[in-house]
Amino acid sequence: MSEAVIIGSGLGGLLTGTILSRAGYHVTVLEKAARPGGALQSFTREGLRFETGFHSVAGLEEGGPLECIFRPLGLMELPWERVMETDEIVVHGVSHRLSDLTFPPGNTIRLSSPTGDVTTEEYSHVMEPFLEGSWRLPSGDLIVKALVAQINGTVRTGCEVTAIEPGRVQCKDGSTYEGIIIADIHPRLAFSLFKGHVRPAYLHRLQALEDGPGIFTVYCKLRPETLPYRPWSTFYEGTLMCHYGNPDAKGFARSVDLLTFCDEKEPDRTALAAHLIHRIPGLQEAIDKYWTSTPATWERYTGTPGGSAYGIRKKAPSCYVHPRTPVPGFYLTGQNCGLHGVLGVAETALTTCREILGEECLNQIMQR
Ligand SMILES: Cc1cc2nc3c(=O)[nH]c(=O)nc-3n(C[C@H](O)[C@H](O)[C@H](O)COP(=O)(O)OP(=O)(O)OC[C@H]3O[C@@H](n4cnc5c(N)ncnc54)[C@H](O)[C@@H]3O)c2cc1C
Repeated sequence: MSEAVIIGSGLGGLLTGTILSRAGYHVTVLEKAARPGGALQSFTREGLRFETGFHSVAGLEEGGPLECIFRPLGLMELPWERVMETDEIVVHGVSHRLSDLTFPPGNTIRLSSPTGDVTTEEYSHVMEPFLEGSWRLPSGDLIVKALVAQINGTVRTGCEVTAIEPGRVQCKDGSTYEGIIIADIHPRLAFSLFKGHVRPAYLHRLQALEDGPGIFTVYCKLRPETLPYRPWSTFYEGTLMCHYGNPDAKGFARSVDLLTFCDEKEPDRTALAAHLIHRIPGLQEAIDKYWTSTPATWERYTGTPGGSAYGIRKKAPSCYVHPRTPVPGFYLTGQNCGLHGVLGVAETALTTCREILGEECLNQIMQR
């Protein structure tokens, strides 16, 4: 049986592992963190569940770009909640629906996640599906569990890969694994671990690629019955994203996550949190307590250099990193190749698997 070794159990690693499992590979996923999932993980504080990264997805309507990937992998059986027709965006205090905004072709936009100045065509590939609505899950961990259960092999947590060579990886605890290698980590990190010859031009290109900003998050626990639960995401002036969570029986939110892009690795947490909280009417009074995470937290958590939230800055065509590397049997996957987000990462997993398995085999696996 062919062996595949996957470094990192983020969405990219788990989707690639699931598809390769279906193609008959024996798969070992090596994850440095204590739990699998990367930016799909949730955590609990004082009985409330908070999402670290993923909050909502688009493209799950029948025949939608994500549905076409998730259905054959059994992920449409998860308890997805369609949250509303469109997400809401607040510009200069006025609320708009995304569907009311026009995206003139070729224009540069800075909308809810400015991972760089990108043309509408490029960015809308991950944003446009939101015009059809968005979907949430009670927890991103449900995707993780559903994919881990389909891996034909092992998902080892607490197992940091410290060296990669052709056909073999070594972990911090001294264990080694052999097979084709797929890195679901930042390509610069992957090649900093690689002990073999790589064309210098390739390494120079990786070094030259800029990363997008990090994200600063405020996880707020609300006092009981203070703010109504709003089952959608609100984007304030394109820089502040607000997600309500943990609804109670009466329809009040028990938590709010505030997210904003952040270039500083470790900003003044108290000052920035106060600034963000102040921008949402009524939130200050409703908060019981809050916790924060910074780009430095993300750097420690996912290993992404500098704590960039979406990895390599999306500035097509110069940003594209192909899943096939110059080293035979060594592939990449995840948000740094192609686009970020659940949709971008899922599409890249298909590209990675197409490189390994070939078009025909992949098509057979992904048939509905
Ligand atoms: C704050 C935030 C909010 C977001 N919100 C959304 C959203 O609402 N909707 C959406 O679609 N997308 C969202 N995204 C983007 C989306 O979550 C990511 O694009 C996607 O989950 C990235 O998956 P990945 O597999 O590329 O990488 P990651 O999830 O980063 O996984 C990489 C994994 O590799 C592991 N690793 C690193 N180094 C090593 C090593 N040496 N050895 C072993 N393991 C290692 C890490 O621990 C990690 O688990 C958000 C991202 C962030 C940061």
